[in-house]
Amino acid sequence: MIVVMKSNATQKEIENVKSTIEELGYKPHPIEGILRTVIGVVGDDRGKPHHVDNLKQLKGVDNVVPIMQPYKLASREIEDQTSTFKVRDVEIGKNKIPIIAGPCSVESEEQVMEIAKEIKKSGASMLRGGAFKPRTSPYTFQGMGEKGLKILDKARELTGLPIVTEIMDPEDIDILEDYADVLQIGARNSQNYALLKKVGKSSKAVLLKRGMSTTIKEFLMCAEYILAEGNNRVMLCERGIRTFETATRNTFDLNAIPVLKEKTHLPVFADPSHGTGYWQYVTPVTLASIAAGVDGLIIEVHNNPEIAVSDGGQSLKPDTFDNLMKKARPVAKAVGRSI
Ligand code: PEP
Ligand code: MN
Repeated sequence: MIVVMKSNATQKEIENVKSTIEELGYKPHPIEGILRTVIGVVGDDRGKPHHVDNLKQLKGVDNVVPIMQPYKLASREIEDQTSTFKVRDVEIGKNKIPIIAGPCSVESEEQVMEIAKEIKKSGASMLRGGAFKPRTSPYTFQGMGEKGLKILDKARELTGLPIVTEIMDPEDIDILEDYADVLQIGARNSQNYALLKKVGKSSKAVLLKRGMSTTIKEFLMCAEYILAEGNNRVMLCERGIRTFETATRNTFDLNAIPVLKEKTHLPVFADPSHGTGYWQYVTPVTLASIAAGVDGLIIEVHNNPEIAVSDGGQSLKPDTFDNLMKKARPVAKAVGRSI
């Protein structure tokens, strides 16, 4: 349900509605719009004698309407505008499209520093790098752990770029919160509900990747787990899905971009690196994603991809990344955006 407050509702009336929702055994999720406040009412209604419809009786309430989609808080029904928030100084969900770039894995201080300087020069707005890596084989490099996070921290100090890094285990939340600006949930963990609930309680923004075999509806339900815990700073990321095609690592689902933009107010990102798996396809799929309406991109860049410990084949060299940025700007302009 959504409680739509009158445009002239007072703060006291809003507070009264929120506390009544709590008394009825539900969680209120207020969203302050430009014209009016709406309050999402979520929770299990089994065995509850009172119906939330009665909230219509309260002062300042304009209407109480049902949310038809199962993803209540992620749905555009609750919020018509794309949600906006800040990660340090970087605005998310606005006209300007932020580009996250950096290596798949943190490998050494020299590697991260060099890449961070290069991507910043080219206009990237955040630095990515995995310190805890989800690898298909348990015998390959698993990430540098806290040592890697310390390197990312140094790079942030040097460049001012906020840090995006993956969380794989709910137990790592404290250490990751000390270093990360954005917690990335990887494709393999996108339906790890314990992890989703954990980051839902965090004060850090979340970049949620789509699982390789999750439908768009399931993907939105994953986001709902985070939102239901109170964390509203969620970015969705299309990163390719598993199909019969073997010419590319994954099949980048371009369709998902306009579909998600229609169904949710959450900002939509694209990851053409994992979406294709080959560096030579990353630029064209980036341009297509911008044309399709993404709110941000995440791109793997490595100073020496030939010897990268993970995902070298899909990583751009800094000069190719610089070229991508140059090609991306006019495409963004053509669809009324900027980079
Ligand atoms: C990554 O970003 O390096 C990564 C492992 O991505 P995904 O979870 O999308 O495979
Ligand atoms: Mn990778």
